[in-house]
Amino acid sequence: MPGEPQDDCLFCKIVAGHVPATIVRETDTTVAFRDINPQAPTHVLVIPKVHYRNAAELAAGEPAIAADILREAQAVADEDKLESYRVVFNTGSGAGQTVWHTHAHVIGGRGLQWPPG
Ligand code: IMP
Repeated sequence: MPGEPQDDCLFCKIVAGHVPATIVRETDTTVAFRDINPQAPTHVLVIPKVHYRNAAELAAGEPAIAADILREAQAVADEDKLESYRVVFNTGSGAGQTVWHTHAHVIGGRGLQWPPG
């Protein structure tokens, strides 16, 4: 069922508190935690507590929570005093997605190149 926790999902385990993470923010619908392999001084993942495979599926199934993710990305940037930052949803293995639970990368704290690699 879309939205239901998945036993084999790392990020569902972080939501449940079964895998440790450096949590920086939590709301009723989202959790934000530091990426274990940071690519910039700020590299935080904002995830929904519900399980959807990617951002598009979350937006289709729970549009209000998709909006919550973007609000939380701004809150992370505010807390880390970032004037500029990037929000990335890798979607599909060809784009670098490795964890199949929707997550926004919030990246900042250094100059960022465009286009990304
Ligand atoms: P993706 O490649 O866009 O799917 O992003 C997955 C991200 O999850 C990568 O940036 C990983 O470094 C990060 N990651 C994987 N395992 C953990 C963990 O246990 N804690 C925090 N971040 C993780």
